[in-house]
Formats: sequence, structure tokens, C-alpha cells
Amino acid sequence: MRAVGLAQPPALQKNIDMYRTHHCGELRIEHVGQEVTLSGWVQKSRDKGFMMWIDLRDRYGITQLIFSEEKSDAALFEKARELGREFVIQVKGVVIERSSKNPNLPTGDIEIEVSELSVLNPAKLPPFTIEDETDGGDDLRMKYRYLDLRRSPVQKNIVFRSQLALEVRKYLSGQDFVEVETPFLIKSTPEGARDFVVPSRMNPGQFYALPQSPQTFKQILMVSGLDRYFQIVKCFRDEDLRADRQPEFTQIDCEMAFVTQEDILNTFEGLTKHVFKTLKGIELPDFPRMFYDDAMRLYGSDKPDLRFGMQFTELNDLAKDKGFVVFDSAELVVGIVAEGQANYTRKQIDQLTDWVKRPQIGARGLVYVKYNEDGSFKSSVGKFFNDEALKGWADKMGAQPGDLMLILAGETDKTRKQLNELRLEMGRRMGLMKEGDFKPLWVLDFPLLEWDEEAERFHAMHHPFTSPKKDDISRMLDGDFETMKSLRADAYDLVINGAEIGGGSIRIHDRALQAKNFKLLGFTEEEAESQFGFLMGAFEYGAPPHGGIAFGFDRLCAVMNGQSSIRDFIAFPKNNQGRDMMIDAPAPVAPEQLDELRLELLPEE
Ligand code: ASP
Repeated sequence: MRAVGLAQPPALQKNIDMYRTHHCGELRIEHVGQEVTLSGWVQKSRDKGFMMWIDLRDRYGITQLIFSEEKSDAALFEKARELGREFVIQVKGVVIERSSKNPNLPTGDIEIEVSELSVLNPAKLPPFTIEDETDGGDDLRMKYRYLDLRRSPVQKNIVFRSQLALEVRKYLSGQDFVEVETPFLIKSTPEGARDFVVPSRMNPGQFYALPQSPQTFKQILMVSGLDRYFQIVKCFRDEDLRADRQPEFTQIDCEMAFVTQEDILNTFEGLTKHVFKTLKGIELPDFPRMFYDDAMRLYGSDKPDLRFGMQFTELNDLAKDKGFVVFDSAELVVGIVAEGQANYTRKQIDQLTDWVKRPQIGARGLVYVKYNEDGSFKSSVGKFFNDEALKGWADKMGAQPGDLMLILAGETDKTRKQLNELRLEMGRRMGLMKEGDFKPLWVLDFPLLEWDEEAERFHAMHHPFTSPKKDDISRMLDGDFETMKSLRADAYDLVINGAEIGGGSIRIHDRALQAKNFKLLGFTEEEAESQFGFLMGAFEYGAPPHGGIAFGFDRLCAVMNGQSSIRDFIAFPKNNQGRDMMIDAPAPVAPEQLDELRLELLPEE
């Protein structure tokens, strides 16, 4: 595996008048005897009275400095003693072999016997320790992000990000993609979230929207004949935030003309394999593919984590109409097998039951069946189902003696979602989500439209420009309400280890079909025209068939490094309230600025 980031610093020009002749990660045993100059931050010092050591840190590593009463001059020794954590210093000295070596540090064989020391800038005591493991809480780290960014794990992430962007650009340019910048001050693009809006001073009462994605622009670029477009681009979505969401985030946004779904899957499977190979040294095998319907049936999720099995088994035929009212009244009875867990104690089962009953999961209860090693069964529904019946369940679910079967029942969609959560939880408890194991998957043929009971309207499952599958086009143009619910989209997601990494679709490129889709989504003709007239207009001037995909760049960084939060791969992230804690934004603006924009704030309620 190729180490990323800190391992191979470029050699510095050796000019003794410069701040440094070497980086802090560079010196080895073969440099012993050399006179060197280093600059960096004081990570920590250890003062033994007659001897003192300082760890000097920069982006490339840590080098130990040594000062001694015996060898250093007295003024130098005193000066070293006054250094505080995070002081920026420059030292000159000789590389010597350490008497006690540190095998955990690349520079651990040597230290610098310092002869000159200058303080380039003193520092206040940092509010948290600047080490790999810090004592700083999230908000503090974000407020002092410049200090947090000094920590090696965060720096490694940022360097990784830069290298990933570079490899993406190399690969896509090699495939003839052109990087095109699209504007940030635009009109709403419907990706399903709220827009951030920007008032226009020159057009009072009018607003730009920041792009939720460059979707319409990249389609227009295909109409323009650019053929293959990409952009590593910021997108803005004003939605409620979670740990893995940011109001501004980055996509690798792509579009291709004259392609089918197959071309897109192959191209971007190629890109994904390339970045795993070059940055992680991992050769991914061809990606499996799964239809959306199967993903929901077998995993209760459109982004299953395939690092482990534990597929769902539906038990309606064996469990319903046997007198157990919970099952009899349920639309779906469905279970999973936790291999080798029949020894779960009463307490563990109760805990798990409480876990699924928490409001976040929302199950009404949990049925368990222990398939004991001796072939007998113990179950919470033993009263209704004898061993023979339970053996029938075990056979259908593929359970063996020693396994634990966990079963939920209720309304189909909800129950699948709940069992998905339980499956993931069991995966975690059983240690089945192995670090360093990467399991990509294409999920295909999402529904085109999603019926919203409350609002009594359809939403686009992907976005309004997504084409139905070819075979569904005529049904879409002529079909009734029920038909609309069953339409499939030419849409696909790339999932890795249960995280959605990318999503895209083949687009509608025909004006009439696009108009029909807007109508189904509840746009009047006038609304469709005023919002997307430019796109439908472009479709009348020779639009080629086209399609594309966008990868969540921040999330790809996190997943490739086995981390769940994208925050530490973003140099200056926002917190869960959407605030930048360092610059303290958002913030009020001056009344004059509001006047200039012809805006007035409503009094607070
Ligand atoms: N614009 C879409 C998104 O942001 C991606 C695509 O369809 O290419 O999810």
C-alpha cells in the first residue's frame, strides 16, 4: 500500500540562508554528522534539568532536538527552557545518533544537537492539545480550526483530498472529459432541498439561488456538443444537517453524450477502481449490480452494506394465520439470521428489543428464535409455534444450530427499514464491518416517481430530468395514476460499504416527455416554462441522448479512509447548526447593506 501524504516530502533546496535545509520528517541515520537548519512548531518539551528534548513538528513529521547543560551554551539552554507549546522556531545544529531510538518515528534514530535557536513567533497556550489524539471537543476544534488543522490526522485527510482530486482529474482527462466551470449565481435547480438565495443589488427584489448541483448546465453542455464534461464543484443545499451532511459540499459532477446506462456504469466503475488502486493500493473486483426492488426486499435499504450477508427472509407463508395476532395483522413478517449468536442472554435480547423500540427505529417489538446447538428451539413465540414450525423457519432462513433468528412484523416499508437498522446494528455488534474491506455495489432502476401521501403529489425520486426506462416511456405518456407509481427510472447509485457515493441517470432529451414529467410533478405549464424554459428550449435545437452521474467527493474521501463523518475531510466545515465557528458566520449585515439590497428584516416573532 502506498502511504499518502506525509511519507515522501520533496527535497528542499539546500541554501543555508533559508529557513530550513530539511523538513522535520526527513532526517535519517545517514545524515549523522551533517549541519542542518530546521523550522517548525514546538510540539512538546521534556526537561530533565541538565538535559532537555523538544519535539519539533511540521507537516512532514517530527524531529527531536536535544539541548544539554554540558554541551549547549548557558544562554541557549535558558532560551530553550522558555519555549512554550506551539512556538514557531528555527534551529541550527548537527544530526547525531540517538542513544535510545524511537522505532515508531521515521526520524527516531537521530536527534539534532542544537547550536543556534531563534524564536520566529511565540504562541499563546493552545486551547487543546495538538496531537493525534486531542482533548478538544468538536466546537472548540472548529473555532480554532487553524490549530486543529495542525494535527497530523486532519492534515493527512486534507492531503488525501488533494491527491484524490488530482487522480480524478488525471483519469477523466485521460478519457477525454473536459472540466468546465458552471456559475454559482443561478436560478433554482431542483435536487429536492431548499435553495440558498442571494439578493441581487442591481435587480431589486430579485434573487439568485446557489446551485444545489450544476444539473441543468451540464445537460446544456451536452446540447452544446462538449460530449464529455466533468467538474469538481461546490454544491449548496439548505437542509437540516446531520453528521455526514454539510450545507456546502463538493461533487465530482459528470455528464456524457451518446451513452447508455451501461457506458456510464463502466466509465465510473473505471474511475472508482483507478482511485482505489492509486491512492489505497487496492484492486477492486468488478462491481456487483442489484435492482432497487431487490435491494429493498433483501436489505430494506437502497444502499446495502455488502461487507456482510444477513439478507432478509420473508416469512409470511410460514408465520401468518397461525393465531399470533401480531403476525396475522402484519403486512410483512421478515427476519434475519445472526450466525452463532444463539447464546444471546435474556438480558442481551431485552436490550436489543429496547433498541428496536426506540423512537428512532420505531419497531413495536422483536421476535427471537434461538436455534440451540442441540437442535432445540427457544423463542418468544414458542406458544404459537412448535419446534417443527420453527424448524421450517430455520430452513427457509438458512439458519444452523447455534444461530439466532430475529424477526420483525408490520407494514412492509416500515418493517423493512427497521430490519435494515437491526441488521446494521447486528453487523456492528458482531464485528462484521471490517476496516479496510471495501464492497462497492451499483443499485439500478430506481422508481421514477415517489407518491407523497401527505402532500398528495408525486416527487421525482432522483430529479425531474431523469428518464424513465425505455420500455416505460409510452406507459408514462399514456398511463393512468397507478401506472405512474410503477414507472422505473434509468437511474443508478454507486454504494460503497453502505454509503451512497454517487448517483445519476440517463436524462430525458425530448421536450414533450420533459413537459409531461413536469406536469406529473405538479408544475403548471407556466411554472415549468418560467423555471426551465431554457432547458426545454435547448432540447428543441438538437439535444443528443445523454446521461451522467455525480459523486459525493467529501464522502468518497471519508469512505476510502474508513471514516463515517465527512467533516474532517473539509478544511473549514460547518457545525450542525450550519455555522462556521471560526469566522462566526452567518452574521447580521449592516442596515445600509440591507437598504442597498432593498431588504427589510421582519421583527422576530
Ligand atoms: N445532479 C445529480 C445530483 O446532484 C447527479 C446527477 O444526476 O448527475 O444528485
